[in-house]
Amino acid sequence: MYLYRLATGRGGSHALQESGTVTRLNRRGWMGGVLAVLFAAGCQQGGANRVVEVLPDPLLRPSHRPAPPKQPPTPEKPRVARGPHDGWVPAGGISKRWQCIVIHHSANDRDTPDGMADWHVQRGWDELGYHFVIGNGVRYPDGQVHVGSRWPKQKTGAHCKVPGNYYNEHGIGICLIGNLNRHGPSARQMQALTELVAFLMVRCNIPAERVYTHGGVTRKTECPGRHFSLSEIRRRVSRESVAAYAK
Ligand SMILES: [Zn+2]
Repeated sequence: MYLYRLATGRGGSHALQESGTVTRLNRRGWMGGVLAVLFAAGCQQGGANRVVEVLPDPLLRPSHRPAPPKQPPTPEKPRVARGPHDGWVPAGGISKRWQCIVIHHSANDRDTPDGMADWHVQRGWDELGYHFVIGNGVRYPDGQVHVGSRWPKQKTGAHCKVPGNYYNEHGIGICLIGNLNRHGPSARQMQALTELVAFLMVRCNIPAERVYTHGGVTRKTECPGRHFSLSEIRRRVSRESVAAYAK
């Protein structure tokens, strides 16, 4: 009803008037549209040829041919690489003497395994005190595991002195290069440490509870630094990651 009244009464004339306005507007719009099209056509005059010449060309290029069907995704690499890595298993095998692992830091970001070995010799030791050193990317590659000269000989360490010398006799010494009192180890160092510790745990039958820190054993040093988390490395060498080495 309301709509009918609008169409036939005053509302109707209003509608007509509105309609006229709309028509005028539309006409203006139409004219504007024509002008716009002409203007645009003028703009594209020069480009039209280029478009015609250029557009089909890439379609003929090999890179634009339909992509070959996708290969099935390659299986993800195991989170922990499977050993043995270079030099991790000495030619003569691994001694049965090892019962635990002791983790250290070098306390200096600019250390290198060779520099540390020189320093240890200067201090009166026969060679590098640790069995393994892991680089931090400053002067030795990030996450690279250096096999110390003691390891091929399966020789007592010189890294964790206590009365009775248990941790040097039976502990595998691993040193992370860096001052971990100032910052944490790099992600690659932690990954390399995880792989190395997991590998040694399996090969030497060492449980996660016998992965120690230098300071945790002696209570006389902050080594391997306030930013190193033993619980984190123990969590990482979970059964799953260790299992990768057990196969
Ligand atoms: Zn230490």
